[in-house]
Amino acid sequence: MSFFFQCPYCSTKLEIRDDYNGSEIVCQNCGWRGTVPRPVTSGAQPGVAPAQNPAVVPSDKSLTAYILLGIFLGSLGIHDFYAGYTTNGIIKLLITFLTCSFGGVISAIWAIVDVCTVRKDANGRPFVS
Ligand SMILES: [Zn+2]
Repeated sequence: MSFFFQCPYCSTKLEIRDDYNGSEIVCQNCGWRGTVPRPVTSGAQPGVAPAQNPAVVPSDKSLTAYILLGIFLGSLGIHDFYAGYTTNGIIKLLITFLTCSFGGVISAIWAIVDVCTVRKDANGRPFVS
């Protein structure tokens, strides 16, 4: 087993043996000498906790309401306004109104896609069920 370290000087990939003991190594390409930080092995190092996701704060918006708004009022972008996607809501509204509700079909299809795929509000917080 070995790992690769990129020479800070010439960017040559230097192969480091897995039992590397922290002593100085020499780049064969440019002659750079230095020590190499060992790669972090899978959580084996004491005191180094694996990266944790920050606590997920749930949305104050309900998924059920979002879906119902999307199905019944989706062509007006109401579900977007509800979830905070104001820009998307305005675009749907404009599509619907500027085409004398002709384009409402487009907005409605877009809304159905939204309710099938969007599970977070505009702040990235998951909807509550
Ligand atoms: Zn080098």
